[in-house]
Amino acid sequence: RSWWDHVTPALKDPINAVTQAFLADPCPYKINLGVGAYRDDEGKPVVLQCVREAEAKIAASNFLESTSTALSSKLVEESAKLVYGEDSDVMKERRFAGIPALSGTGACRLFAEFQKRFYPESRIYLPDPTWPNHRNIWRDVHVPDRTFRYYHPDSKSLNFMALMDDVKNAPDGSFFLLHPCAHNPTGVDPTDEQWREISSLFKVKNHFPFFDVAYQGFASGDVERDAKAIRIFLEDGHSIACAQSFAKNMGLYGHRVGVLSVLCNDKIQAMAINSQLQQISRTMYGSPPIHGISIVSKILSDPDIKAIWLKEVKVMATRIHRMRVILREALERLGSPVNWQHITNQVGMFCFSGLNRAEVYLLEKEFHIYMTPDGRISMAGVTTKNVDYLANAIHEVTA
Ligand code: PMP
Repeated sequence: RSWWDHVTPALKDPINAVTQAFLADPCPYKINLGVGAYRDDEGKPVVLQCVREAEAKIAASNFLESTSTALSSKLVEESAKLVYGEDSDVMKERRFAGIPALSGTGACRLFAEFQKRFYPESRIYLPDPTWPNHRNIWRDVHVPDRTFRYYHPDSKSLNFMALMDDVKNAPDGSFFLLHPCAHNPTGVDPTDEQWREISSLFKVKNHFPFFDVAYQGFASGDVERDAKAIRIFLEDGHSIACAQSFAKNMGLYGHRVGVLSVLCNDKIQAMAINSQLQQISRTMYGSPPIHGISIVSKILSDPDIKAIWLKEVKVMATRIHRMRVILREALERLGSPVNWQHITNQVGMFCFSGLNRAEVYLLEKEFHIYMTPDGRISMAGVTTKNVDYLANAIHEVTA
């Protein structure tokens, strides 16, 4: 007997499994619609111009010591402006705590740990469906999860009535995870009016909204517009927290730059919460890697570079939207009997296509097109070159 005889392989991560299958396929015209990272119209990953500019500026000043408090605070402050609004009272009164996190995943994990530490008996309500890792994150910190209804498979849109029912029926004072924009995997977001109703009901129920902001800018092309849901909750005076990721909207997946921020009553509470968050992160990874933080801080704090970034976010979102239009038109031109309106109604990086497991399987086996078994298409993988092939294949498996 050896020490690890009882260790069996972990369940495969559904998204990594798609990438592995894609990489193993030698077919020259294979398409990867699995991974949720931006690709240009050539299907290539993009290094944004704003990142290049920021890198040039930090090259001279960069030192490879541990992350300084000043640099961390700058990242947190600039990121907080993006979600809470530059001119908000929260920013003016500095009523927030926050620390750099290892991208969106790390920010969610930090919050889960924080929740467990100060509300040890609490649960987390997750939308059904949601990014599968949410469940794993809260499971690993021993916070039980529940789901609230979100998506309506028949209409391929928001199941607003059911959502409101589930929010109402949850015990008062529950934690809820919300995607403020570009919901993953469905591409379905509530309207502003619906957000207002959700916010009012949260107020009545005294629920805690935790926003996972992984795709700010990808829904509308405008990062301010995409913060609208958060602003609505702010106006209503909620206590909230935000996990932010710069993996997608700055194309910095590999650098793992994110922020967790928590709104506070005042500066004193902010100091207490900051120190607790720091203590939690110390035992998990010490301090975060410095290079990505330097890049993001530079982009957000240099007005010229920030302007470039905002334009580039718009370009990415516009390309994805264009692919939605072209894919839908191509399917309609083929005379598809299926209603494909949802392709253009949904927003952000993903299209929750409605393709079933068998159809997804056929796309993979017969057409070398890869996506998660739930039929989620990463629109970033669609290009002017492959869209007709994709439409034909979808038509073949659904007609
Ligand atoms: N939240 C959601 C909703 C996501 O889709 C993702 C990435 N797929 C993340 C968080 C985590 O992103 P990352 O850790 O790469 O920043």
